[in-house]
Amino acid sequence: MDYRSLIAEVPDYPKPGISFKDLSPLLASPPAFRDAVAALAAPFRGQGVEAVLAAEARGFLWGGAVAHVLGAGLVPIRKPRKLPRPTYSATYALEYGTDELHVHVDAVKAGGLVLIVDDVLATGGTARAMLDLAGRLNARVAGLAFVIELSFLDGRAKLAPAPVHSLVRY
Ligand code: AMP
Repeated sequence: MDYRSLIAEVPDYPKPGISFKDLSPLLASPPAFRDAVAALAAPFRGQGVEAVLAAEARGFLWGGAVAHVLGAGLVPIRKPRKLPRPTYSATYALEYGTDELHVHVDAVKAGGLVLIVDDVLATGGTARAMLDLAGRLNARVAGLAFVIELSFLDGRAKLAPAPVHSLVRY
């Protein structure tokens, strides 16, 4: 499947120097979306993943679908003040700006196996924060799966030794 032709590259968005990878065309293509979700999940099938951790907003688009094919639950990782009950939080640096992510303290049972899913691995700050939240939950991490990996930013190095799986690399 040629995913790359379904990724729109938008230069200088949201600020100069950033080449934004817009996955809308891939999401809108029934065969490509189905294939990409299956490919994201493939290395983690049969491992007993109980929950997929995915961050708002674009991570939700992929996390829910991957959770569905793995027969796992979905744990929303959210921006401050979005989750109504007690949370753990992790602060992180984006490719552009900084932010904080939260997860409900009871989102995963201790020792549960989780998979972290997002659309793009850039600097790895967001994914590192999700790994830290998985640690706070005492979850075991099967790995991390991304549609796109911006290899030149070496975000992968921040996530070792967790297995990192990506479909398209730039
Ligand atoms: P990072 O924390 O630097 O790895 O950034 C990853 C998060 O920011 C992902 O959730 C993406 O949605 C978003 N992101 C960062 N860089 C890009 C980019 N060049 N194109 C699209 N999304 C990006």
